Amino acid sequence: MAVYHADALVIRSREFGESDRVLTLFSRELGKLQAVAKGVRKPKSRQRAGVQLFTYGDFLIYRGKTLDTVSQCSPRESFPYLWNDLDRSFAATGMAELLDISTLAAQPNPELFALTLTCFFLLEQFDPFLVLSAYALRLMTLLGYRPRLGECAECGVSISGERLFFSSDAGGTLCGQCRETYGGRWIQAGSIAFMRQLIRADITKLDRLRWNAWMQHEILEILQFYLEYKFERPLKSWRMGSLTQDDMGRQTKSKEGEKFE
Ligand SMILES: [Zn+2]
Repeated sequence: MAVYHADALVIRSREFGESDRVLTLFSRELGKLQAVAKGVRKPKSRQRAGVQLFTYGDFLIYRGKTLDTVSQCSPRESFPYLWNDLDRSFAATGMAELLDISTLAAQPNPELFALTLTCFFLLEQFDPFLVLSAYALRLMTLLGYRPRLGECAECGVSISGERLFFSSDAGGTLCGQCRETYGGRWIQAGSIAFMRQLIRADITKLDRLRWNAWMQHEILEILQFYLEYKFERPLKSWRMGSLTQDDMGRQTKSKEGEKFE
């Protein structure tokens, strides 16, 4: 029976049969793959810890006829800080879901793997929504969907003004003339400029960037709008969580004078 190694992150885990789980792994060498972890829902399973959601490790996998099976997992990192903080947990779930809906199985993308792993580590220290937004924009860039920001996505002229018109269909901001034929929404020019910084900045120094609650809300909303349009799938975790609705709550609080960075 063929066996292979995968240096991988568990990005999805769902119950299967009586005591198994089907894992979706994103691996450095092989891209996205699925494998069954047998018996891991039994309390005494030795593999239980290794196959938890968001575990990064070395997986030894048997190739099966229909579904592969995890034979061994040596965890390298389990990101414990994701489990005791709601915002970090939402950001991690949002990144994992986006990675899942934006990639096809068995298409290696080592750069995307490295970006994902880096961002999971950055969640320990940095504003989780800043990490999530930078991740989404850089993932789009790596997959060839980088939005055009601050210039017209249709005719290329540079655009100025306090508010810019963003169209998912056109893949970025649009000038007054090209806007006529597309649907979209308005966004503050400051938010567009910040999105450009999120793509360009050294990712390990993201914490130097400062945004306010309004920009955060606007950027997450426009990203969700664009990502869902491009991949034709709802981003359930982005919709459900504190990413849009609860952030409005936080935004109100910060307007009342609470510090918000
Ligand atoms: Zn134009």
